[in-house]
Amino acid sequence: MNGLKISPYISAEQIQQKVSEIAAQLSQEFRQETLVAICVLKGSIMFYSDLIRRIDGDVQCEFFGVASYHDATTSSGEVKVTLDLTRPIEGQHVLLVEDIVDTGLTLNYLKANLLARKPKSLTTVVLLEKPEALKVKCDVDHVGFKIRNDFVVGYGLDYQGLYRNLPYIALVQDLQ
Ligand code: 5GP
Repeated sequence: MNGLKISPYISAEQIQQKVSEIAAQLSQEFRQETLVAICVLKGSIMFYSDLIRRIDGDVQCEFFGVASYHDATTSSGEVKVTLDLTRPIEGQHVLLVEDIVDTGLTLNYLKANLLARKPKSLTTVVLLEKPEALKVKCDVDHVGFKIRNDFVVGYGLDYQGLYRNLPYIALVQDLQ
């Protein structure tokens, strides 16, 4: 596929175990509340759908489209909204589900954007974080895995639109 050399990095089993742990914590935190879970398109689709299915409680689904990479492997730092939420989140408990924090610019943008809409609370969850790549301070409430500063694909994450359907996370080996 696409001639790219990839190697397994985080297995499907490890991911599913971590998703269950995070979902259990969120179920505890929001036991009596309705949660508006926001999926950041497109990279979070797998993580989001696995996570919300394991949250024991009332969940409403929303989708937020942002573009920050544009088929390259380095962040432009620019975030463009490509699809907005379908309803107001004012006064709601909001869960923002993101695939990966690299420089931190996208998540900080998303948080600021959502906080401006005055939710009752905003909880952030990311599957992956690259601590060495952070360019700005970026606080995340729940982090699945801290990984090294390399480009990864799979489980929703793409390289030039491909590899999102891998059930595991792989390391891309031969990127310049
Ligand atoms: P940041 O703004 O934190 O630099 O970048 C966040 C976005 O960049 C993520 O939502 C994701 O789309 C993309 N990104 C960052 N690192 C990677 C990576 O290792 N692999 C892939 N496929 N996308 C990444």
